[in-house]
Order: sequence, then structure tokens, then C-alpha cells
Amino acid sequence: ASSSEEKDLVIIGGGVAGYVAAIKAGQEGMKVTCIEKRGTLGGTCLNVGCIPSKSLLNNSHLYHQILHDTKHRGIEVGDVKLNLANFMKAKDTAVAGLTKGVEYLLMKNGVEYIKGAGSFINENDIRVALNEGGETTVRGKNILIATGSEATPFPGLEIDETRVITSTGAISLDKIPETMIVIGGGIIGLEMASVWSRLGAKVTVVEFLGQIGGPGMDTEIAKATQKLLKKQGMDFKLNTKVVSGDKSGEKVTLDVDAAKGGKPETLNADVVLVAIGRRPYTQGLGLENIGMELDERGRVIIDSEYRTKIPHIRCVGDATFGPMLAHKAEEEAVAIVEYIKKGYGHVNYGCIPSVMYTYPEVAWVGQSEQELKNQKIPYRVGTFPFSANSRAKTNLDTDGLVKMLADPQTDRLLGVHIIGPNAGEMIAEGTLALEYGASTEDIARTCHAHPTLAEAFKEAAMATSSKAIHF
Ligand code: FAD
Ligand code: NAD
Repeated sequence: ASSSEEKDLVIIGGGVAGYVAAIKAGQEGMKVTCIEKRGTLGGTCLNVGCIPSKSLLNNSHLYHQILHDTKHRGIEVGDVKLNLANFMKAKDTAVAGLTKGVEYLLMKNGVEYIKGAGSFINENDIRVALNEGGETTVRGKNILIATGSEATPFPGLEIDETRVITSTGAISLDKIPETMIVIGGGIIGLEMASVWSRLGAKVTVVEFLGQIGGPGMDTEIAKATQKLLKKQGMDFKLNTKVVSGDKSGEKVTLDVDAAKGGKPETLNADVVLVAIGRRPYTQGLGLENIGMELDERGRVIIDSEYRTKIPHIRCVGDATFGPMLAHKAEEEAVAIVEYIKKGYGHVNYGCIPSVMYTYPEVAWVGQSEQELKNQKIPYRVGTFPFSANSRAKTNLDTDGLVKMLADPQTDRLLGVHIIGPNAGEMIAEGTLALEYGASTEDIARTCHAHPTLAEAFKEAAMATSSKAIHF
């Protein structure tokens, strides 16, 4: 079978990149088909990424807080128990609600949704191996590759998602391991380490670099984060590279090499989480049938308008360049539809926020102090600690700080780095300020409601442009 009419846009992949492009194109009156093989829409983010991990982070934080952070608030609780099966069910409910919601939005915007795996026959025709059996073909004037990414495997250590796991296993373990080693202290590593450590596992994070947090996290903030996570019970081995692993025994063992003069050692744990990054996923797409090559990291090569070397085939999201973030994929998805429909679109890559949903949260936008130093860009720094913020004090939640970086000549904001309660929400204000080219004086002169955590943001701006009032 084949759908006879040529579509304006055929999208391969129904993750954030694909489904957002589908909705936007539908709104623009284009005829659209979205092909997704998973069986549900929303991709990595909704099914096994952002959403389920945030459910587990939120609820494990609540559990941990009830256990350890109530007495001094004058709240005495009785017997607190964790029901892991129901804990996982709450996550599944959130995921199911959101993926169904996306399906409804595609329908509402007139998008044809085909459940199956798409592959290129030629530059315009896509074969779809249907999930229900059989196949169909669709023809597109424009085609969008939005096939996303997958966990980078660790050579020689086979993933079974029960003892040697990726993030996908880490969001669905059916018992709490006594010990867990996380290979890679990036965002996935630290978010998942937080979940299982709060639930009672003894977690050790092994990181190759000298700081945690993955690329982009400001060093001062990364150090503060590590201290707080250590206080919560996590162990860290920095400057340490895992070189090999073995899961034939009762425990999974890892050989590590200490980079800076330390001695090699063997570690072991019940469960090992491999969180060493993600790589673009283009397997089975039939790129060879259209002569499309990938770069050395497996990314689809595109120009500034997201065109591959075949101009009507475009690519956005995790499958191509840039940070692997859902909101980055979403911005690009809107931009490509605008390029196709209107001839212009826009994403400001200098202004994409990052949030790590640990406790406290860590969030940043723009440049870090190290990046400015490395580029020899002059800057001024202003900080404000939450310990001097009235709301944080009232909430007995004072760990962390807001740090701002600005141009010393023009006072233009260059970067915002926050560790603290609600940092992930507060960074929206920093992103807006950066996008609008605000000076720190602009922020300092903007009235902020009292008592709010956001006043720490204003006071950090005051500290950058002149002096904070409360510190
Ligand atoms: P994906 O979401 O990977 O979607 C691609 C889709 O294409 C998949 O559903 C796949 O099945 C489908 N597909 C692939 N090939 C084919 C084919 N041939 N035919 C049909 N379908 C195909 N980002 C954030 O911004 N915030 C977070 O809090 C966050 N948390 C995360 C937590 C975890 C544990 C992980 C793993 C990731 C997280 N991310 C987060 C990253 C985020 O999930 C990705 O950046 C985002 O999903 C990328 O969207 P995408 O559409 O490019 O790719
Ligand atoms: P990452 O690149 O952020 O971190 C991987 C870490 O593993 C790095 O710090 C690296 O130095 C380390 N590493 C690599 N090999 C090692 C080895 N052999 N031994 C020890 N350490 C080693 O990757 P990630 O944490 O896997 O995340 C993947 C992607 O998913 C990222 O792009 C991230 O932004 C995205 N993500 C985002 C969120 C969020 O926005 N909250 C959440 C989860 C994932």
C-alpha cells in the first residue's frame, strides 16, 4: 500500500523535534506525515528521558525530604515507606498522559501519524515498515530527519538494563540496588545518581574530568554542586577513567585509571549505570540509498538552514549538531517549518538554557567564567548567596547562589549560573534578559516581588553593576 498524494513535509521520528515540527507545519496549513516506530509519540524525552526522570526526581526528593528534612520544621511523621512499584506507576501515568496528549495535538492539526520505521528509498520516497506488519510508502516534497539519539555504549560491557544499565534501565529498576556505580558525572549520571541515592543505594560517580556536570557547567558552580551532593551521601571519583568492565561475577566490576598520579583500582557494584554521553541515532534510515554521509561523531551534516546536502532533506534535534536538549530540538523544529514556509527562521544558540534537576537544581545560560577566560573576553562577576535571601531563609532552604557575568564596559549580561532552590524556573528570567541584551543594571532596576527566591537574581545583578543590598 502507499499513500498516493505527495506531502509537503514527511517527518521521520516523532520525538520532540519531529512532533513539534509536525504540529507547527499543520498549523501553517501544510500536508504533513509523521512516522514514528516506538509506538508512542514524544521520543526519548517523553518516553524514557526528560519526563520519567523528572517524575522520579520529584518524588524521590519528596520521599527524602519527608525522611530527613521535617523534624526541624516541627513536623513529625510516622512510619514512612516506599512502594517502588507505585512510585514507578506514578511516572508511567505522567508519561502516558503526555504522549497521548501529543497524539491528540497531531490529530487536531491534521497530521497523518504512521506507526512504523521509515527509511529512504530515494530522495523523496520513504518506505515505512509498519508496526502492525506490512509496509507502505510516503512521498514528500520536503523530508525532515528527526531520529534523535541513543546512549553511547561502553566498549566491552554489554548493556542488559538490569545490572549494566543506561538511563532507560535507571528509570525502571524494580528494586533498589545496595550499591551503584555511575560511569560519567554528566547530567544523566547526576540526576539518576540522585534518584537512587535518595531511595537508599550507595552511589559512587566516576568521572573522567576534574569536575562534574558535563560540558558547560561553570567550575565554581560545579564545585558547589559536588559538595552538596556529597553531603547527601554520594561519593565521587574525579579525574578517573573507567577503562574496562566485567559482569560475569556476582557483582559488576570496573577497572579504573586515575588520571592524575593516582593508582589504578578495581571497583564493584550491584548495578552500573553507563552515562558517558549520547550519540545520534540514524540506524536503518537507509541514508546509503541517498548517498548521505555523517560526520565523525555520527551526526547528520547540515547548513545554517538545517539543509543536508540534498536541500529538501533537513535534520534537527539530537541527530545533528548542538546540545542534546529537548527545548533546543523544539526551537529548531519551529525554525525549519518557518524556513520551508517563509524562507527564514531563527534559533539563538547563544541563549539556550541548561538545567540539571538535582537538589538543589543547577541552571545556566550564556557563557561560563572559563569560556570567557579561554576566549580572553573581559568580564565582571557578581554573586548573591541564597543564605542571604529572605524566602530561602524562611523555607530553610539556603544552599546555593546566583552568579552573573557581564561585560565590564557595557554592563551587558554575558552569562547566568544558578545553583539553588528553583534554579530551573529562575533561569527563564536570565534567558529572557540575555535574549533581549539586558545590562545587569536593567535587571537590578527591575522590581521583583518580595519575598521570592527571584530577589536573589535581582541582587546578583545589583552585585554585578554596583552593590547588593542584603549581602
Ligand atoms: P528523540 O527524542 O530521540 O526522538 C527521536 C524519535 O525518532 C524516537 O522516538 C525514535 O523512536 C524515532 N525514530 C528513530 N528512527 C526512526 C525511524 N527510522 N523511523 C521512525 N521513527 C524513528 N533534555 C532536556 O531538555 N531536558 C531534560 O530534562 C532532559 N532529560 C533527559 C533525561 C534522559 C534520561 C535522557 C536520555 C535525555 C534527556 N534529555 C533532556 C534530552 C532529550 O530527551 C533530547 O534532547 C530530545 O529527546 C531530543 O529530541 P529528538 O526529537 O531530536 O530525538
Ligand atoms: P554528558 O556528555 O553530559 O556527560 C558524560 C560524562 O561522562 C562526561 O562528563 C565525560 O567526561 C564522562 N565520561 C566519558 N567517558 C568516561 C569514562 N570512560 N570514565 C569516566 N567518565 C567518563 O552526557 P550524559 O550525561 O550521558 O547526557 C547525554 C545528553 O543528554 C547530554 O547532552 C545532556 O544534555 C542530555 N540530558 C539533559 C538533561 C537535562 O537537560 N536535565 C538530562 C539528561 C540528559
